[in-house]
Amino acid sequence: SGEVRFDTVLFGYDPGRTILKGVDITIAAGKTLAVVGPSGAGKSTIARLLFRFYDVTSGRILIDGQDIAAVTQDSVRDAIGIVPQDMVLFNDTIGYNIGYGRAGATQAEIEEAAKGASIHDFVLSLPEGYETRVGERGLKLSGGEKQRVAIARTLLKDPPILILDEATSALDSRTEAAIQEVLGEISRRRTTIVIAHRLSTVVEADEIVVLDQGVVVERGTHAQLLAAD
Ligand code: ADP
Ligand code: ADP
Repeated sequence: SGEVRFDTVLFGYDPGRTILKGVDITIAAGKTLAVVGPSGAGKSTIARLLFRFYDVTSGRILIDGQDIAAVTQDSVRDAIGIVPQDMVLFNDTIGYNIGYGRAGATQAEIEEAAKGASIHDFVLSLPEGYETRVGERGLKLSGGEKQRVAIARTLLKDPPILILDEATSALDSRTEAAIQEVLGEISRRRTTIVIAHRLSTVVEADEIVVLDQGVVVERGTHAQLLAAD
C-alpha cells in the first residue's frame, strides 16, 4: 500500500493567487518521487496538501485510490511521516520528542522500532541521551542531531508514506551524506516524496518532476533530465 496520486490539483492559499496550477503526479507504492525546482515553486505546498494541512481548490489527491478529502485528517496523517528541513523540538526530553504523537513511547519501544534497520545505532547514538531535556538548560542539538530525532520519530511511527522536505539541505556536506544514507535506507521500504532544490541530491529517485511556478515543467529519471539539459 501507499500509492499516491495528485489528479489535476489546483490550490491557492489566498483567493486570486493560484500556487499549484493543475499538478498531476503518480507515485507507485514503495517508489520514490523527487520534486525539485526553485524556491517558491510550490514544492512544500505539495507536501502540506498531502498531509491535509489544507484542502485542494479543485482536483483530487488519492492515497491507494481513496480521495483524502473524504476521510478524516487523522487517518491521512497516520499514513504519513514527515522529515522536515529543520525540526522544531518540544521543550522536553529527546525521548518525548521522538515519541511525539505516540504518548509515552519508551526507549525500549523506540529501539524495537529501529531494529532490523542497520540505522539502529545511528539513530539512537544521540550524544546527549534519551532522558535529556532539550531547550531547557541550554542543550541545543545540532542540525544533524535534530534530523536523527526526526528519523527516529518516523521509524517509531512506521508510516507507509514518507515525505523528506529538504531534509538535509541545512546540514554541512559530511553530515548531509551520512543522513542521506540513512534516509535512503528508510525510504527503500516506503512510498517516498523527496523535496529538494538540487537535482544532484536526488540521483536515486525512481522519477523526478521539476516544478516551476506551480506547474510540472519536466519529468523523468535523473539520467533523462540530465540529457535534456
Ligand atoms: P517551495 O517549497 O517550492 O519553496 P512553497 O510551496 O513553500 O514553495 O511556496 C509556494 C508559494 O506559496 C510561494 O509563493 C509562497 O510565498 C506561497 N506560500 C507558501 N505558504 C504560504 C502561506 N501560508 N500563505 C500564503 N502564501 C504562501
Ligand atoms: P495530530 O493531527 O494528531 O494533531 P499532527 O498533525 O501534529 O498530529 O502530526 C501527526 C504526525 O505527523 C506527528 O506524529 C508527527 O510525527 C508528524 N508531523 C506533523 N507535522 C510535522 C512536522 N512539521 N515535522 C515532522 N513531523 C511532523
